[in-house]
Amino acid sequence: MQLTDSVKYLKGVGPKRAEALARLGVRTVYDLLTYYPRTYEDQSVLTPIAALQPGEQATVSGIIMSLQEKQGGRRGLSILTALLGDGTGFLSVTWFNRKFLKQQLKPGRRLFVTGRPAYAYGGRGQMAMSQLQSFEVLEEGEEPGEHCGIFPVYPATEKLPQKYFRKLVGELLAALPELGLPEVIPAGISKRYELLPRLQAFRQIHFPTDAEGLKAARRRLAFEELYLIQCGLLLLKRQAREQKRGVRHLSSGKLLRALEQALPFRLTHDQQRAWQDIRHDMESPLPMRRLVQGDVGSGKTVIAMLALVKTVENGFQGVLMAPTEILASQHYDSFRKQLEPLGVRVGFLSGRLTKKQKEAMHEAMAAGEYDIVIGTHALIQEDVQFRNLGLAVTDEQHRFGVLQRAQLAKQQVSADEAAPPVPDVLVMTATPIPRTMTLTVYGDLDVSLIRELPPGRQPIRTFVRTPERRTLIYNYVRTQLEEGRQAYVVCPLVEMSEESELPSAEEVYDELRCGIFRGLSVGLVHGRMKGAEKEQVMQDFYENRVQLLVSTTVIEVGVNVPNASLMVVEHAERFGLAQLHQLRGRIGRGPYKSYCILVSEGRTENARKRLEIMARVTDGFELAEEDLRLRGPGQFFGSMQHGLPDLKAANVLGDMDILLQARQAAQETLASKEDTAAVLPSLALQYSEHFAKITEA
Ligand code: ADP
Ligand code: MG
Repeated sequence: MQLTDSVKYLKGVGPKRAEALARLGVRTVYDLLTYYPRTYEDQSVLTPIAALQPGEQATVSGIIMSLQEKQGGRRGLSILTALLGDGTGFLSVTWFNRKFLKQQLKPGRRLFVTGRPAYAYGGRGQMAMSQLQSFEVLEEGEEPGEHCGIFPVYPATEKLPQKYFRKLVGELLAALPELGLPEVIPAGISKRYELLPRLQAFRQIHFPTDAEGLKAARRRLAFEELYLIQCGLLLLKRQAREQKRGVRHLSSGKLLRALEQALPFRLTHDQQRAWQDIRHDMESPLPMRRLVQGDVGSGKTVIAMLALVKTVENGFQGVLMAPTEILASQHYDSFRKQLEPLGVRVGFLSGRLTKKQKEAMHEAMAAGEYDIVIGTHALIQEDVQFRNLGLAVTDEQHRFGVLQRAQLAKQQVSADEAAPPVPDVLVMTATPIPRTMTLTVYGDLDVSLIRELPPGRQPIRTFVRTPERRTLIYNYVRTQLEEGRQAYVVCPLVEMSEESELPSAEEVYDELRCGIFRGLSVGLVHGRMKGAEKEQVMQDFYENRVQLLVSTTVIEVGVNVPNASLMVVEHAERFGLAQLHQLRGRIGRGPYKSYCILVSEGRTENARKRLEIMARVTDGFELAEEDLRLRGPGQFFGSMQHGLPDLKAANVLGDMDILLQARQAAQETLASKEDTAAVLPSLALQYSEHFAKITEA
């Protein structure tokens, strides 16, 4: 058996379980090995029921005295309640919608539960396990002895219970020495950075002997992960810089000066600085790899336009790739308006074109009939080629992967025998990543920041309101629409679903269209609509034929309708802060006072806090930091769709010091040919999809 083998080869994994595991992302033996516990519970200490303190986590072991089943709640939940006794007292434990547990929770059996107890409602001082974290029922005849110690808690499911995971991982760990687990970090580095040996680290992270052991294991595995990614990113950067010749642009000429004069505004300081960085990179013979990070509405598009015109002025083609059709066609419109009077030929390519149109476009691009081509993913298909690409720009790049970014820069017809120069690459993102994190996410890029917004912007005022005020809110929206403004209503779901009580975009659309907004034009747009349909609605909104647009988060990215000055977000607690910020960025784009109303019941403390932050903070970076603090980096990072591998052991914020060490170590490694060669196989094994360009070379 090898690490790359399917988990099917493990004992206890049949086809059904293998399928269930695959759904959790566990396909290979290595996936299982790195399926790290979500948390641990210290069951080395059992607390007698009589000694439980409300609110303090504890593990209790007792015998199930009785089991009750009830139906309850609005939607008829099944409620199972077991009464547990251990000779010192009784504790009730409740499960919601876990009917299937009846089989296991038989009176007389021994039950281990871990959680935070509280006084039972109306129970005269009796305790209930109100926040149940985990539990385990002993089968008849099973010895309780093995249930003491520090235990891993895996993200388990109904089909794959905790106990199963523990056993499966335990057996895998026992078999590891025979597998011959390869080392991935060169010995010198391991020694210098005092890293735990790999085998030991895997054992400790799953079944720690104590807190120290766990900490050392986590550090080692986080280091390994970040180290490999850094090696990959640095190699990408080196490959681009050293092996190849870039495009050398000349300093600004007539065309650029004409564009600068034709712009309807002056660049802000930050825009000027970013543009200067870009100019400098473009005029150097090395390929540019630059990220422009700027909050929503900070004016990144004009920077891209300047850079693209610079490449055109130098006789090259430029390309701008956007993550959605809507955004791409918006860019296409504004580029044509601004650039065609200057004689720049702008083309458009997206999946929406017919096969014939696409082919014609491909030919025209390869023949150099367009100076700038704007489009979507369709730009990175196999058969797309440029005659002489000088600059590739991706907008809102967190939607694209590192790989796609590299792909775009590669497509070029080689006119002569010598390899063509490598085009410059410019990436623009509105994701406000705290500065230190850019190292991991965009380790292969240089960064320019645009922090200030263009002058004269009306600040957006944000309010949090409970659903009881919806009628009031919508009446206000109606008066605004009657005065000529436009508004967005954002919903978390597309269509009705049985599991959820949330109103869907479709329901809200029907409700508003036939109710408060009768007589006005209301549109609906969501991700499940066909491309053309979606675009038609957006176009109608853009041109003010639709006054109120009900939507899901499809409008999150880049949509620019300056006349829209109101946004109502239904069930605002369902969105992350970063996402709400992106959404809110759709308004406040014109001269009108803009309002964002977050409708939420705010049932939990955390939800209330987050929405209050939204109401108070308007700066994207500040919000991102608050978001991180509240949600923890796992979720924050996970939601960014950054195109980099998921981090399993490391945690980007908390492990900043490990990240810096890992980056340092990666640099040390790449300084040595042998060490670099030694790292490549691990890079190929673990991150082949992300760094194929390197590992295949
Ligand atoms: P984003 O960074 O979110 O992509 P855009 O490039 O779409 O932002 O710019 C938002 C709006 O601000 C556009 O309407 C644009 O014309 C305008 N804008 C950009 N730069 C300036 C500036 N320096 N002064 C005034 N308005 C500007
Ligand atoms: Mg933009």
